Amino acid sequence: MTKKLITILILGACLVLLKPAIPEAVGNEKYSRIIWSYLETLCGFGPRNPGSEGYQETLELIRRVGKKYADRVVEQPFLVQVSEGKKIPMVNLELQFAGTEGGAPIVIGSHFDTRPFADQETDPEKQIKPILGANDGGSSTAVLLAMAHYLFQHPTPRPIHLVFFDGEDYGARGSGLNLLGSTHYAQDLLQVDRKSWPYWVLVIDMIGDKDLQIFKETHSLKGSSRFLDRIYSIAKKQNNSSFKSQSKYTIFDDHYPFYKMGIPATVLIDFDYPYWHTQEDTLDKCSPESMFSVFSVVTEAIQSFQVEN
Ligand SMILES: [Zn+2]
Repeated sequence: MTKKLITILILGACLVLLKPAIPEAVGNEKYSRIIWSYLETLCGFGPRNPGSEGYQETLELIRRVGKKYADRVVEQPFLVQVSEGKKIPMVNLELQFAGTEGGAPIVIGSHFDTRPFADQETDPEKQIKPILGANDGGSSTAVLLAMAHYLFQHPTPRPIHLVFFDGEDYGARGSGLNLLGSTHYAQDLLQVDRKSWPYWVLVIDMIGDKDLQIFKETHSLKGSSRFLDRIYSIAKKQNNSSFKSQSKYTIFDDHYPFYKMGIPATVLIDFDYPYWHTQEDTLDKCSPESMFSVFSVVTEAIQSFQVEN
């Protein structure tokens, strides 16, 4: 081995050591810790299905974070008819950040409610109990809460509205009692001028899986391909191998009511999660690295949308 080759090899090794695994720009360790700590707090509240104690505590937490970091907190209460003669109150919470250039806002959404039952369990006793929803409801809510810290310190060109949707996971399949908060939010837009409709709606859901794989979702590809391209090219630049360029599922998540209205809407979700809608969807199935990697891609994406593009 020549001296020159040895030098090149040593230099190469140094470069590998110096290269950060995740971009320093967003202060990786700091935000990773914040995200994980919110997920622990949310799971500590227990199940967070509408009407539960954990649900109330979650609302209080989001309000506190909003009051501290957001420019404005908007509450959107609504009533849902869940059975004949029975209505229950629900609420979407929106943390608004003004942005430096104005223009139509980017909505980043996540449902904060958890499923009131575990329909993927085979044991009837387990089926009737509400789930903890560490990944389903918890992981994306934790990422959005950490994003409030980030946006307070790193304003984006466009306004950002972090929307915590209620009632995504409330009803049984086919009951029509799912996507309740996002449907209400989308219908409310019909009352306002189209100019103030969101520029883009980006929903995140179930992004805490240790083996994170985010395939391109069909509605997102149809309705928001330009935005999806941006997300995936940033993920590639960040060497994030969780973002898979193939398309896989067609998913009716909180992005769907916006997609139906013709608003560019994307969902980032890992639907290959064996603990989905079971009692096993617990904190130990989640990974801070997975959640941070989504946070990192999303924050870079929202910084890249200037008002003129
Ligand atoms: Zn769910």
